[in-house]
Amino acid sequence: MRNTKPSVKDFSKSLIQADTVTLGRAITLIESKKTEDKKFADALLEKILPSTGKSLRIGITGSPGVGKSTFIEAFGKYLTSRGKKIAVLAVDPSSMKTRGSILGDRTRMEELSKDACAFIRPTSSGNSLGGVADRTRETILLCEAAGYEIIIVETVGVGQSETAVRNMVDFFLLLQLAGAGDELQGIKKGIMEMADAIIITKADGENEKKAKQAQTEFQHALHLFQPSTSGWTPKVLTTSALQKKGIAEAWKMIESFHEVTKANNSFQENREQQKLAWFHENIQLMMKEKILQSKKTLSKIQMLEKKINLGKILPSAAAKEILKGL
Ligand code: GDP
Repeated sequence: MRNTKPSVKDFSKSLIQADTVTLGRAITLIESKKTEDKKFADALLEKILPSTGKSLRIGITGSPGVGKSTFIEAFGKYLTSRGKKIAVLAVDPSSMKTRGSILGDRTRMEELSKDACAFIRPTSSGNSLGGVADRTRETILLCEAAGYEIIIVETVGVGQSETAVRNMVDFFLLLQLAGAGDELQGIKKGIMEMADAIIITKADGENEKKAKQAQTEFQHALHLFQPSTSGWTPKVLTTSALQKKGIAEAWKMIESFHEVTKANNSFQENREQQKLAWFHENIQLMMKEKILQSKKTLSKIQMLEKKINLGKILPSAAAKEILKGL
């Protein structure tokens, strides 16, 4: 952006004309820590807002090794072969520590990354999940403005990232391996409750029978939960991404979800709720940022941390002290 900085108007125009170089630059601006870039990105987002919201947003989670990237590659190729434009983004909590991203790595989805109808973008590094989630949400909007019809947001099955992704997508998919009959113990109940569907991966060869068994078990287990999205009964499918089996069925299921939830309005309601949650999260994030900006407050925090550790003050009382000084 340094020397040849286009105007927000020109920038948004080329973005809406689906220029992927502009899309990449726009995401970089969103991720930038420079105030000037952030201002530009905010103005850009405001400008493109009318062109956003039209995609179907799909969240995909699962433990490392479950087959996420292989699935996304097969699923993505299936969609692009049907003329869809897809974007794959990633929310990777581990990148916050390592300042690098393991997800969204181009080499993980080699075929898809060469596909002109697909856009793959790894997560930026950041120092908080809130920050990464925020940027991912903004990136979704940019991708929508650039005409991507299906946005896949991938995350690994650790920490709070699943909740963050659940709160920014329309459909939440959990990928799961078939084990030796103990599937239901190895999985966090909370994640199952968030899922609109579970897909048992690697249902091929010797594993196929086990996958079918797991499918029945999960189906039974899901009956015990309240559905995550109203009017939709969560489904359990099996796939083999390597053999391209079950991929078309997975898409058919998601299409049917889209139809059902649009017809009963829960699709729109979910989107509205998510926007409000985003607003409130931002209030919290920004308040915190503002508090931490002041050197005086920072040293007061350090002083209070010592007092807390010495048992001289309760953490809640210490927090009140900080607010008093503002
Ligand atoms: P991720 O860490 O969840 O992204 O998992 P990957 O997609 O990288 O897959 C992990 C391993 O499982 C790789 O060695 C894949 O080749 C293998 N794998 C993925 N999908 C399938 C499948 O459908 N069938 C079989 N047999 N192996 C698979």
